[in-house]
Amino acid sequence: MSNLDELYQSVILEHDRNPRNFRVLEGPHQEAEGYNPLCGDRVKVMVTVADGRIADVAFQGSGCAISKASASLMTEALKGRTVEEAGALFDTFRDRLVGGGETEGRSGGELPTRLRALEGVRSFPMRIKCATLAWHALKEALEKPEG
Ligand code: ZN
Repeated sequence: MSNLDELYQSVILEHDRNPRNFRVLEGPHQEAEGYNPLCGDRVKVMVTVADGRIADVAFQGSGCAISKASASLMTEALKGRTVEEAGALFDTFRDRLVGGGETEGRSGGELPTRLRALEGVRSFPMRIKCATLAWHALKEALEKPEG
């Protein structure tokens, strides 16, 4: 295992132990839940959008280290971005995991450094659903009306 792999693994373990934005959003927000039956991961993503921008985003749930770290890293990466940017980041993230990085040009490229910690998951097809679960829930939440 290279030092880089170890670094990335430590990012995942650290976010699993101390997940960011692991809380319930107060006030009006949009939310959606995801379940990954392959692993038993459950996640609920809550998001507040103001002026087309993600003003706040948080999650709750339980699951493996990868699903939790991915949700945590996602909330960190998305806060303050526009809804369009969030959609583009979702596409890039999914392509990097599922497509092995070969579709870079299409979805516009690079992941923020910390999200690259999850790229290693693409070598483990069974775990890709763990890493993308929170992202699918986010996408669904953004498409739902407030409630
Ligand atoms: Zn999992």
